[in-house]
Amino acid sequence: MTKEPLLDGIAQTEADRDLPLLRPGNTNCGGCGMSIALQMLSRALSDRNVRIVIPACCGIVTAGPFPWSAYGAPVVASTFASAAAVASGLARTARMNDEDTRVLCWAGDGGTYDIGMATLSAAAERNEDILYVCYDNEIYGNTGGQRSSATPVGARTTTTPGGEDLRKKDILGIMAAHGIPYAASLSLAHPEDCLEKFRKALDLRGFRFLHVLSPCPTGWKSEPAEGVRLIRLAVEAGLYPVLEIRNGREWRVTVDPGDDEEALRRYFRSQGRFPEGSLDLAKVRAEIEEHWREIRKMSKDRAPLNPGPESPILRP
Ligand code: SF4
Repeated sequence: MTKEPLLDGIAQTEADRDLPLLRPGNTNCGGCGMSIALQMLSRALSDRNVRIVIPACCGIVTAGPFPWSAYGAPVVASTFASAAAVASGLARTARMNDEDTRVLCWAGDGGTYDIGMATLSAAAERNEDILYVCYDNEIYGNTGGQRSSATPVGARTTTTPGGEDLRKKDILGIMAAHGIPYAASLSLAHPEDCLEKFRKALDLRGFRFLHVLSPCPTGWKSEPAEGVRLIRLAVEAGLYPVLEIRNGREWRVTVDPGDDEEALRRYFRSQGRFPEGSLDLAKVRAEIEEHWREIRKMSKDRAPLNPGPESPILRP
């Protein structure tokens, strides 16, 4: 008996596969880090068959109005809270149909750190066959710029006009604690490392989690052309550790963090969300050092310097 494929209406067509993941005419702001991350993912996908689940966030606005879509792959729009649960269903259906389809979640920090955490944690616990990517712009970008639990200390948002005073959650540590096959942070300023991790995460099975610090010129009050430089500064200052973690136990630093105090100053100075005097730099440095002590304890070794090419701007 021929097996009727379930959910055939959202299968990726041959025509889709020839398209970049993010097409021209999308609604993202100029200089959006999420656009760069999607271009990187597009490169990494090559001819892999994918379906993408996107909760309520800037990433679903990107597609534009139905029936048009700026995405070069089938996309399911989910509620904020349910992305990982919806993706679990799609992944299981693909397996029942013997399809070699990769199921991805593409979610912002609000849908990951906050509202989607319950279904995300449950899917990770069940080790569902999903690649979950969190593009972290440290803010609820598409609803006016409210704080999320990814917002860093000192940042002004519409709900923290005097500056955020709570510490940002360690999302990578939280996800690694689930013992999932693969968790990693990606730097948009280090494209080789970034592409390698996207490819690795696409090819592995089980639950994989990627964290991408994603510049948001609108919310960060920064120059649109400066996004990649900001990420490089965050890495050079040790503020954004670039790591990978296998099975929750094998920690590896993949980009040398540096320890550059001037990079830290320039990172904060370049963003209007950190007004003069909103930060205690000595305290920030102490927190960075404490975080790195924990990371060094977990990782057996420090990988060699891997800065990657200067320009990460990739054309589809
Ligand atoms: S608000 Fe920020 S994250 Fe959203 S599309 Fe604009 S730049 Fe990108």
